[in-house]
Amino acid sequence: MRLTIIGCSGSFPGPDSPASCYLLEAEGFRLVLDLGNGALGALQRYVDLYDIDAVCLSHLHADHCLDLCGYHVARTFHPGGPRPRIPVYAPGGAASRMAAASGLAEPPGMTEAFEFVTLAPGTRQIGPFGVTTAHVNHPVETFGFRLEQAGRIIAYSADTGESAALVGLARDADLLLCEASLLEGPGLPPDLHLTARQAALHAARAGAGRLMLTHLVPWNDPARTLDEASGSSFTGPISLAAPGQSLELG
Ligand SMILES: [Zn+2]
Repeated sequence: MRLTIIGCSGSFPGPDSPASCYLLEAEGFRLVLDLGNGALGALQRYVDLYDIDAVCLSHLHADHCLDLCGYHVARTFHPGGPRPRIPVYAPGGAASRMAAASGLAEPPGMTEAFEFVTLAPGTRQIGPFGVTTAHVNHPVETFGFRLEQAGRIIAYSADTGESAALVGLARDADLLLCEASLLEGPGLPPDLHLTARQAALHAARAGAGRLMLTHLVPWNDPARTLDEASGSSFTGPISLAAPGQSLELG
């Protein structure tokens, strides 16, 4: 299974990275995990847009879903004719939210391009991936992910404050791809995002093999983010996500 970081900028695109978007590939299947603003352009450096087999949206904040609007245009108005429908796994209400964002009347909204599948906590098969989802701790309905393929496991926090569910999703994962939006300091908002130190604590509790910090907000100093995680109880390798970075598991 190969993970490519398409975008890892938190909350809005940064000068060097789109907002959240990750490409997971295994057995010829291509799964896009989140499609935040700015991601659709960079995604084309790594995959033909028409070779994508499925999209998962962790939640409906713009920095995780908004480029589905552009992707709808790309699939619907291709000069060779509309491309076949592909599934979009997303929280309830996604079809209407995305139609509204594009100014599309419903029906059909985007449903001729995308088959919207409502996520619920549990496990399902998406192509070669066993995908377990659980609610994490964020102001809107948000799913964290555990993706298993051929004995390898990647967990993805999506956006979350401190979350026991995230520890469960990341249990013994080879990699925890975890948000680190905040830096330590007074008056941290609860139930919203994690600091890098908290991300590392979640990785330690889960027994994850390695930790990659993502959702890096442009106003933070990335060196400080890495420092704060490194000073925690997590003893595995810790790195910062970077756009274009690719990681092969297995
Ligand atoms: Zn969010």
